[in-house]
Amino acid sequence: MTRVYNFSAGPSVMPVPVLEEAQKDLLDYKGAGMSVMEMSHRSKDYQQIIDTTVADLRELLSIPENYKVIFMQGGATGQFAAVPMNLLKNGAADYIVTGNWSASAAKECGKYGTANVLADTKDTNYTVIPDVDSLAYNDDADYTYICENETIYGVKYPKLPQTKAPLVSDVSSMFLSEKHDIEKYGLLYGGVQKNIGPAGLAIIIVREDLLRDDICPYCPTILNYKKNEEKGSMLNTPNTWSIYMCGLTLKWLKEQGGLDAMRERNEKKAALVYDYLDNSKMFKANVQDKAVRSLMNIPFVTGNDELDAKFIAESTAAGLKSLKGHRSVGGMRASIYNAMPVEGVQALVDFMEKFEKENS
Ligand SMILES: *Cc1c(COP(=O)(O)O)cnc(C)c1O
Repeated sequence: MTRVYNFSAGPSVMPVPVLEEAQKDLLDYKGAGMSVMEMSHRSKDYQQIIDTTVADLRELLSIPENYKVIFMQGGATGQFAAVPMNLLKNGAADYIVTGNWSASAAKECGKYGTANVLADTKDTNYTVIPDVDSLAYNDDADYTYICENETIYGVKYPKLPQTKAPLVSDVSSMFLSEKHDIEKYGLLYGGVQKNIGPAGLAIIIVREDLLRDDICPYCPTILNYKKNEEKGSMLNTPNTWSIYMCGLTLKWLKEQGGLDAMRERNEKKAALVYDYLDNSKMFKANVQDKAVRSLMNIPFVTGNDELDAKFIAESTAAGLKSLKGHRSVGGMRASIYNAMPVEGVQALVDFMEKFEKENS
């Protein structure tokens, strides 16, 4: 068996101990005589799995009592619709657009109400984050929406907007990479396939006063936060396998020392790459403002398309996989989520160094 270093933006690398535990449980989950995939979601065994997963998430993030945890299907994209359908009241929300994901979310909101775009950084190729203290927030906005870490462009908010309206944040690609300060948000959510588990599941953490009955009348029941919460995320058959796998990752995170330890490790990993890029004569980070650089997704280029293609081909052959940049950006992108070991990041930096020597 050979495990490569997988720099995919998502679905992405998972911790080996998590995969091993799933493998161990696959045919017979702790004496149940069946796998978790084959188990009724109404069974005692499964109820215990989901309850433990929620409890571990609450513990890792110190989630206050008045915030609820909901599991939903439809990925993060489902939440682009669920957020406006559940949270619009006066019919308008503020959006800060800092990349494809927040642009898509704003567009989706427009189907159900008005998305007031307070800033759009497209003219910088999404390499900056606007100063959140100088934006013209609307006092009657139902919420302020951000994508806190833009997976494609590699920018992250260094500071959260402080607004009268509840803050809604898409944290998909930085979920559990550090300790989110829950009380700063009305709602935060993420698809789990970037940093927690297998695709097809979104985790929503929402302040309970935002769960309402008088929501958009044509909101599909399956996207109704209040109804999902009341049914313990089992309004219908949930993504039982993904929830179970996320539970294993949470256990692994606890064993790693929790989210402050993860943050420290992630800062160290990201610094290895950025330091190399900043000192290289060949490679350059797309995001030059150090204050807004993502710790999880690092896009970079040589400035020469042919050289980029050569780098991608040779790094792939060397067991460093999925370093090709997003199709809308080109170049390269290294996604170095929680499960990417320091050794993997070091192997990437070593490879870049060797490539630079050989090609200059
Ligand atoms: C990947 C991603 C999405 C889309 O996730 P899906 O689960 O495929 O819908 C949305 N937002 C961010 C920040 C992402 O990284």
